[in-house]
Amino acid sequence: MSDPEHIRYAPLQVEARRQDRWRELGTFRTPPLAEEQPHLYIKPSAPFTSGNIHIGHVRSYSIGDAYARFRRARGEDVLFAFGFDAFGLPAELGAIAGGVSPTEWVARCAEHMTGQLERLGFSLDWERSFMSSDAGMYRWSQWLFLTLLEAGLIYRGTSSVDWCDTCETTLASIQVEPGGTCWRCHNPVRLVEMPQWYLKISAYLEENDARLRERADSGIWDSVSLDSQEIVLGRVDGVELDLRSADGAELTVFTPHTLALDRASFVLISARHPDVEDWGRDPDVAEQLETLRSGGWERSSREAETIPVIDTRRTVIGPSGRELPVYVSPIVDSRYGATAVLATPSQDRTDEILAGRLGIEELPEGDPATPQGRVAKRYRAFDFTISRQRSWGTPIPIVYCEQCGTVPVPMEQLPVELPTDLRPTGTGNPLAELESFVNTSCPGCGGPATRETDTLDCHFDSLWLWIPACVPPGERERPLDEILALPDLRHWLPSERLVAGSDSGNFVFDQRIVTKALRDIGHLGFLEDGEPFAGCLFHEMVMRDGRKMSKHLGNVVDPDELVERYGADTVRLAVVYAAKPQRTLNWDDSAVLHCHRFLGQVWNQTHAKLALAAAERGASESIRAEDERDQTEHMRQRLVKWCDAGVEKITQDMESLEMHTAARNVMRLFDRIKDYEKRVIAREGRLAGANLQASLDALAVLIQTLAPFAPHLAEELWISLGNDDNGAVTPWPGVSFKVSV
Ligand SMILES: [Zn+2]
Ligand SMILES: [Zn+2]
Repeated sequence: MSDPEHIRYAPLQVEARRQDRWRELGTFRTPPLAEEQPHLYIKPSAPFTSGNIHIGHVRSYSIGDAYARFRRARGEDVLFAFGFDAFGLPAELGAIAGGVSPTEWVARCAEHMTGQLERLGFSLDWERSFMSSDAGMYRWSQWLFLTLLEAGLIYRGTSSVDWCDTCETTLASIQVEPGGTCWRCHNPVRLVEMPQWYLKISAYLEENDARLRERADSGIWDSVSLDSQEIVLGRVDGVELDLRSADGAELTVFTPHTLALDRASFVLISARHPDVEDWGRDPDVAEQLETLRSGGWERSSREAETIPVIDTRRTVIGPSGRELPVYVSPIVDSRYGATAVLATPSQDRTDEILAGRLGIEELPEGDPATPQGRVAKRYRAFDFTISRQRSWGTPIPIVYCEQCGTVPVPMEQLPVELPTDLRPTGTGNPLAELESFVNTSCPGCGGPATRETDTLDCHFDSLWLWIPACVPPGERERPLDEILALPDLRHWLPSERLVAGSDSGNFVFDQRIVTKALRDIGHLGFLEDGEPFAGCLFHEMVMRDGRKMSKHLGNVVDPDELVERYGADTVRLAVVYAAKPQRTLNWDDSAVLHCHRFLGQVWNQTHAKLALAAAERGASESIRAEDERDQTEHMRQRLVKWCDAGVEKITQDMESLEMHTAARNVMRLFDRIKDYEKRVIAREGRLAGANLQASLDALAVLIQTLAPFAPHLAEELWISLGNDDNGAVTPWPGVSFKVSV
């Protein structure tokens, strides 16, 4: 088997050969449903059609792919596929910069990125890949919108929303940076009042909270992903009390400072509190409230030092019997949600700053308060807007009719198609100016009507993006309620593991909410706990010199260049080897060099041993006989033990997605094999006969455990060791299975 072409490690040729074979045989096509087979859906993240795969993507897919290959290698059926997240402002801006329509732009991006990922050898099922911006796919968003609207989980509200003057759009609060600037253009964001469509996540916060504890108990949600869910939820525990004003008005207030109730010195109400109007009836106060909402309010003044505070000129009787002044301020929202709270300067730095601004003196310490109030909790997470004044998004299936009012487009008329010839300019919403789109007839009375011209934020698309990979391509056109009832969904869901970046917390949180909503509405009822992901791994980002990579800083690592120079296997191995998934990977070329050297050695060692074995086969029997009286049996036994122990450790690492440890243990096993050979040669003067065979057997085990990380090299070596070239996954040690290709 050792023809000269194979002897030198030439990753580019090896990888091209393997990838051709995988394509030819459809190795990674999702297996047909077979209930008796162990099976799982590994959900990789859905990349934005940004134009290029960056090293952070390589990290993400290298972890997920190693896991997918490991599970296949144990004989399990694996679904490993994703769709591109193709709507949204970045794509719109990319299209403007590229001088093409967004449709063309995202198609180009997806094609290029697919090519990059294929070149890296990720075992994704490309037949199941899709674009969220295709009409056949964004009808999922429209269907979901109508379904949630009917269930009362989407509503039209008018309240203050974050607005970016530069991008001319509203932003979700998660798109507002900590300094009060826009996530996209970094210009200041204002709060303005505007009618918007809202997603009522508040209906499921309690259940998400409770289910999170089950997630933690399952042991297959890693700490980063669990933390992210807690952060998004923003639960605060405390007590609530019903306070009264002198004129008898009642206000329920919350406080986390349960042991200092008597030290509360004023009350703060959120501007979004349902009763805030009652507390701001004084005309002057009402005017200030109006100004606050309609927006002169800079988001940059969100800090306690500068945030608006409106004096309602009213008081309530506090827990200590003192009168407490009542103020309205948006500072409540970011800390406790849209509620009312006791402010306790002695316990809380923010309250202390506000008290200073308002000239409220600190209260002298009194006797410890008797416990009062009801045990209560508040969540910072709250309903958020899902509509955007942009053209590159899913059209909202709503028409406005003078006779009938707001009318949902009937399900059977979906999708409401986005005109494909739209050319966004960067400002405003060209969709609103396109008469052929805007003017329509009312589905209710048939009279003239106009379409909603806001589109859905791409965050809304992400609510369902984890589902369509489960749908066989041939079934994709069916009505969505039929699709959701397909046995395929029951087969693959919940996803055994989501592998995504640590910045995916918001997406996952809302996906968990919507799954519960769908369950209650009567879809996906088999997901009894309303959880789309049984397990979750969040990995951290890749940085360089301790800084985030950016073109601006000139510190970007280009995966294409690395692959061209060292091969995909080296790059894939290096990104998992270099750091624990939950740690930031600080890029350094030494990991690549180390992994490249390692793979070259594995290649050379294996071929050297094969050449020895071939030479031996050609030699006389007398040499073989001589081997029988060797005194190296204990060394061989020890090598077998090392292999067994190594496989056991690496298997555990792979099961828990501790990929960096797995990679290190694979390397350690190789050191053991080299050590064994050295000892044998020291004693015997050569490696031959049973000792050579033991070495080859150990190398076979090494190659099997290396395969999830460096699949091309491993598969070539596996074939060199005498196994069939069936384009299939290299089996895990100890596993023998028939591959259905
Ligand atoms: Zn902006
Ligand atoms: Zn009508």
